Amino acid sequence: MTVAPAPALPLPNRACGTCTLCCRLPEIEEFDKPANAWCENCVEGRGCAIYTDRPQLCRDFLCQWMTDETLGLEWEPSISNMMVYRQGQQITVLVDPDHAATWIREPYLTQLRRWAAESMHDGGYVIVFAGDDVTKIRPLAEANHS
Ligand code: SF4
Ligand code: SF4
Repeated sequence: MTVAPAPALPLPNRACGTCTLCCRLPEIEEFDKPANAWCENCVEGRGCAIYTDRPQLCRDFLCQWMTDETLGLEWEPSISNMMVYRQGQQITVLVDPDHAATWIREPYLTQLRRWAAESMHDGGYVIVFAGDDVTKIRPLAEANHS
């Protein structure tokens, strides 16, 4: 996977704070950074050591929680231990491997299934990456009938 630029501006009431998940969880091909490894420029709990000179790729990226008010406060990455972003038709959910089971807890699993149901009408889908596990989320109605 590759981090895709976010098209939107951050919501006025949201900020990254001390969250650094997007400097750790995604594979970033441009940096040769594997998934679930810290970027060499990241100082845990403080942020980017080269912030003013950080690459354009980093300047352009915002996770879904920063730009989409339909994601409630429970989705703040420092609370959920997940980061969400869109890559075309795919809603990508990266789970902190130190909290690998968090996505199957509520309210998260039902919301993931609802996103899958809502996005499937336009060909969209939801993929969860948790450690070495990759899961395509079943849409809510389908999940309720199994
Ligand atoms: S995952 Fe989201 S909230 Fe966390 S640092 Fe990245 S953009 Fe900010
Ligand atoms: S260069 Fe800075 S902003 Fe970009 S991934 Fe590394 S620590 Fe994060």
